[in-house]
Amino acid sequence: MTTKPHKLLFISTSVGALGTGLGGGVELSLRNIAQEMLRRGHKVQIVTPAGATWNDLPLVEIPGNLQIIAQSQERTDPIIMPENSVLANMWEYARQVQTDYDLIVNFAYDWLPFYLTPFFCCPVAHLVSMGSLSDALDKIIVQTGKNFPGTLAFHTAAQAETFPTLTQPVFYLQSGIDVSLYEFCESPKRQLAWLGRISPEKGLEDGVRVAEITGIPLKIMGKIQDASYWQNILQEYPNAPIEYLGFLSQREMQKIVRECQALLMTHRWVEAFGNVAIEALACGVPVISYRRGGPREIIQDGKTGFLVEPDSVSGLVDGVLNLSTINRDSCRRSVERDFSVTALGDRAEKWFDSILGN
Ligand code: UDP
Repeated sequence: MTTKPHKLLFISTSVGALGTGLGGGVELSLRNIAQEMLRRGHKVQIVTPAGATWNDLPLVEIPGNLQIIAQSQERTDPIIMPENSVLANMWEYARQVQTDYDLIVNFAYDWLPFYLTPFFCCPVAHLVSMGSLSDALDKIIVQTGKNFPGTLAFHTAAQAETFPTLTQPVFYLQSGIDVSLYEFCESPKRQLAWLGRISPEKGLEDGVRVAEITGIPLKIMGKIQDASYWQNILQEYPNAPIEYLGFLSQREMQKIVRECQALLMTHRWVEAFGNVAIEALACGVPVISYRRGGPREIIQDGKTGFLVEPDSVSGLVDGVLNLSTINRDSCRRSVERDFSVTALGDRAEKWFDSILGN
């Protein structure tokens, strides 16, 4: 593909240090792109808030106060920066070292990196990791796309469609994973999985209701981002057969997920992609998801899972009752074909090459 190795500076999300789970799927996307770029001979340096738990990748840890997550704010809220902002500190670091790199890649869903783009001499690419949530951010994203064509990537068309004023063509960077890290399981136990940040936009309560209605135990894994939301669920469904296992490492998580009959995806928002979908499919686990956002472009309805009416718990239950029609081999094969780390690397390299004019 690429003829010349690139020198890439990846700037991570500023809502949490890498490996803590606070950044959600963007952590895994960044990790997989970085690993694959290094494997292909590119130089990569990753800038993260201090406190990262990864020790196998080249990290620069920057101190400072974390950014508030965009999902917890109203659409018309102004942009908020804490005192001693880690986001600002990370971009100050990038400003100082920019001449050592060919390309800076921004993974933060925040206003500042877009605003700063014209002030950098090194080109800046932006991976937009969520759908539209804030008027101020929408505006600067669209403006950046106009002023620097080709530098914006979105995960899926469903995600890009949430930005109504986006007229420039954008690059689609669907995610990918190292399939060899996910073990295939032919015969699951009588249990279902739910994976992700525990936060209202993920609609965990609908998964809990499925467990209550079907009586099939639900294994819940992920970072508790909103503790009062989680407590409300526990109070509202005291008899549902659920078990919370914590925020697990990829290795531990896939051990549980692969033994589940299905993964439930119950998101209330337009999920930009849904890394958890490809992780479950890689283990041979069908995904039953609301037909909303990225999962629409990942799950083949009736073949690798079911896409059901958004917010319909009875639709999810129907999916569970029809799981015997899904071939778990087909689930795994769909990831091997479309969402491998090689496919991700090809897409990312194509994007970087197009920006750098290779
Ligand atoms: N995850 C994890 N351990 C857990 C539960 C989830 O590492 O116990 C990771 C999972 O691998 C995935 C991310 O959390 O990469 C959730 O990403 P997704 O794209 O599904 O949603 P987002 O959080 O970005 O909205």
